[in-house]
Amino acid sequence: MCLAIGLMAWLAMTALFDPTANAWAPKCLLHAATGLQCPSCGFQRAAHALLHGRFVEAWNYNWFLFLVLPYVAALVVGECLPGGPWRERIRAFTHHRYVLYAYLTLYFLWGILRNIWGI
Ligand SMILES: [Zn+2]
Repeated sequence: MCLAIGLMAWLAMTALFDPTANAWAPKCLLHAATGLQCPSCGFQRAAHALLHGRFVEAWNYNWFLFLVLPYVAALVVGECLPGGPWRERIRAFTHHRYVLYAYLTLYFLWGILRNIWGI
């Protein structure tokens, strides 16, 4: 339940405040220090654009958001469902080590590729 409440709070803040226009939005230290894009660069701007229905803009900020959304949705559903077989199935998927390894691998691969491709 805490995950869902935290996510809702973050979504509300991200929807209400444009990260490109507010100084409070966290800035990427890797990008500031090196000029390189980390895998999460643009994630908050992408989420803001997505919450306002601007899918292309969100895609251009960070492709990985679209890959991680189904996983985050499954995490929240797995946390919020009352006990039962569906909850256990969803949690078995989201907490499976191969799923976590796959997402971590894709996350770092995305970080490398976006700097090679310049996106
Ligand atoms: Zn970054």
